[in-house]
Amino acid sequence: MSQVVTRIAPSPTGYMHIGTARTALFNWLYARGRGGKFLLRIEDTDRERSTPEATDAILRGMEWLGLDYDGEAVSQFERADRHAEVAHHLLSEGKAYKCFSTQAEIQEFRDAARAEGRSTLFQSPWRDADPNTHPDAPYVVRIKSPETGVTVIQDQVQGDVTIKNDQLDDMVLLRSDGTPVYMLAVVVDDYDMGITHVIRGDDHLNNAARQMMIYNAMGWALPVYAHLPLILGEDGKKLSKRHGATSVEDYQTMGYPAAGMRNYLARLGWSHGDDEFFTDEQSKEWFDFCGINKSAARFDFKKLQNLSGQHIAAADDAALLQEILAYREKSDMAHLADEVAAGLGRALYCVKDRAKTFGELLDKARFILVQRPLEIEEKAQNQLNSVSHSILETLTPQLHNVSWSREALEALVNQVAEAHEVGFGKVAGPLRAALAGQSVTPSVIDMMLVLGRDESVARLNDAKAQCHD
Ligand code: GLU
Repeated sequence: MSQVVTRIAPSPTGYMHIGTARTALFNWLYARGRGGKFLLRIEDTDRERSTPEATDAILRGMEWLGLDYDGEAVSQFERADRHAEVAHHLLSEGKAYKCFSTQAEIQEFRDAARAEGRSTLFQSPWRDADPNTHPDAPYVVRIKSPETGVTVIQDQVQGDVTIKNDQLDDMVLLRSDGTPVYMLAVVVDDYDMGITHVIRGDDHLNNAARQMMIYNAMGWALPVYAHLPLILGEDGKKLSKRHGATSVEDYQTMGYPAAGMRNYLARLGWSHGDDEFFTDEQSKEWFDFCGINKSAARFDFKKLQNLSGQHIAAADDAALLQEILAYREKSDMAHLADEVAAGLGRALYCVKDRAKTFGELLDKARFILVQRPLEIEEKAQNQLNSVSHSILETLTPQLHNVSWSREALEALVNQVAEAHEVGFGKVAGPLRAALAGQSVTPSVIDMMLVLGRDESVARLNDAKAQCHD
């Protein structure tokens, strides 16, 4: 088979919906897993609803999700002349015709059909009219749809979907002002872009039958169709804002890593055995139409969080740091000075294991983000009493000489605990308070290793001064 070429063709009429992201991902996986191409087309033919801001949101969403596309994004609107050219070609071939019926006449036809209990699909009297009888009046161009037989959409997800041709009217291709309709634009663009597989939401399934009519009239080979079931909210109703965020950008500001999002969206309506957590390499290799569910998928926030946490834990530290810094910027958090960002990078190994989002990770990494003198939370403050004072008094001088390694620091803290006849935990409390100003933190040894000798000693000295009776 020739090279696979897929596309995502969003309409830029608002934010980027999570359903669009999933469709984009499925197209990306299908193409990338087969050495194919994945293209982006902005369907901006509806001039009233399309905005440049919405296009930007799509481009940003694709970039964040790491769904790289080949070449430049194509603007559908800019190709309007080409769409019209195809309609004129069909006209010259006798596969389309000029229809001069007015809106009033069409309405009259429908009313009469309804009254007589016939199909209200408009049948134009101009379909087979002799061009010599054409008036000098505005007209639309309609395609001659087959009058009998059936159209079978061989859908890779839904199976064969059969539509009776007498249920398809002679669709308008060009409006009376000469502008092409959306349905024509999609087919011409898909053909010109060499799209081999059309993977999209099943709200377009009915369009496929009409679009096939244009392919057939032009003698073009049909693409393979795969129509994806909807995404529902947890309550089984169509996913909407009521269920929580529906915009891709919202998930970015909620602090989910792109890899976790890709993993979750891939699982939303597609499965590979019992696999839940997987890498891009795996999903590219595994993704196929046979794994797509026929029924609608339900959005499950718990599962998203779970996968997100696993991807944060599995991430490479350098890449993770960059992603967290981008998240901070996106969420309007303060810019981190270079040395603080470097500290955060050093801290990742001990904070990334149990964070479901970047926000949670940053909470755990607070000890490296704060500056002396630390603000000490009330609960941590309670740890700083006279016993703590004596523990810090014994420990601090020894920190100057100890070798700054996990083993040596552990041995030292244990030794101080023994000298005070208390357990490790009793020492850890005041150390947490001193090193982080908090009572829930990564392990004290990890914090000391990340903070380094000078900063650790300075924080312990600060805390010593704050101990109360
Ligand atoms: N522009 C359509 C949409 O945003 C997609 C059309 C298609 O994929 O064929 O729903």
